[in-house]
Amino acid sequence: MANAVCVWGLARAHGGRVLLRLEDHDRSRCRPEYEAALLDDLDWLGLEPDEGTTDAFRRGAHALRQSDNAARYEAALASLGARDLVYPCDCSRKAIAREAPVAPGEEPRYPGRCRTRGVDPASTPARRLVIEPGVERFDDLRLGPQAQDPDAQCGDLLLRDRLGQWTYQFAVVVDDLDQHVDVVIRGEDLLDSTARQIRLARLLGRDVPPRFFHHPLIRKPSGEKLSKSAGDAGLRELRAAGVSPAEVLGRAAFLAGLQAEPKAVPAAELETLFRVG
Ligand SMILES: [Zn+2]
Repeated sequence: MANAVCVWGLARAHGGRVLLRLEDHDRSRCRPEYEAALLDDLDWLGLEPDEGTTDAFRRGAHALRQSDNAARYEAALASLGARDLVYPCDCSRKAIAREAPVAPGEEPRYPGRCRTRGVDPASTPARRLVIEPGVERFDDLRLGPQAQDPDAQCGDLLLRDRLGQWTYQFAVVVDDLDQHVDVVIRGEDLLDSTARQIRLARLLGRDVPPRFFHHPLIRKPSGEKLSKSAGDAGLRELRAAGVSPAEVLGRAAFLAGLQAEPKAVPAAELETLFRVG
C-alpha cells in the first residue's frame, strides 16, 4: 500500500505516467485469484494506471504480464550469451551455502563455482550472468547518493533458476527496458539490489538506466515490519469494516512516515504528499 501511495503520488506530482505490469515471473507463487484481487483493490482505491489499465488486464488486452513474456526474456538471455556473459550453473542452494557460508540475515554471494567448470547447458536451465568487480554509483531520488559493488554483494547474478523460472531481477530489468520505464518506485528493502539492476540494464544496451526512488516501508506502530501478506489481509479487513478508500490510503501514508497524521487522502490528492514547498 505504501508503494501505491508513492507511485501514484509521485507520478501525479511530477507529470509521470503509471504503468501496470503483472510481475508473475514466479509461477509457483501466482494464482489467478491474486491477480483478480489486486485489480479489484486498485479499482476500489481509485488508483487507475495510465498504461495497462485494470479493465485492459481483465479483457486480456494487457500491457505486460511477465508470464506471457518468456520469448522476450529468452532473446535477452541469448544476446548476453552471444557475448559470453552467461553460463550454466548446476549448484544447489545448499552447495552454495557450503562453499560460501553467510551469517544469518546476510545475502548469500555466489562464489563463481560454475564460471569455469564447463557445465553442460543441457543439464540445467539455470543461467548466471558474469558480474565483474566494480562499484556502481547512483542517486536515489529519496535517499541520495549510493555506491554498491554487485560482485561483492551477490557475485554472478542468477537470471534463470534450476526450475527454468526467470528471476525477478532479470525479468524486471528486461521489462523496464522494453517499456521505457525511467523511474522505478519500490520499497527500501530492495535498495541493495539496485546496482545489479543498473549493471544488467547497461549490459542489455540501456545507455541511461532508470532512476530509483526507494520508499519507506509500512511499519506497525511498534516499528516492526509488516509482511506483504499481512498488509493485504489488512486491506480486506479494512474494506469489510467500512473504512473508505481515502482513509486506507491516508493510513498507509501515515504508517510509511509520509504524513504526520493518519488523515484521509483520496487517490486524486496523493500528489500533495510529494509536492515540495
Ligand atoms: Zn554453480
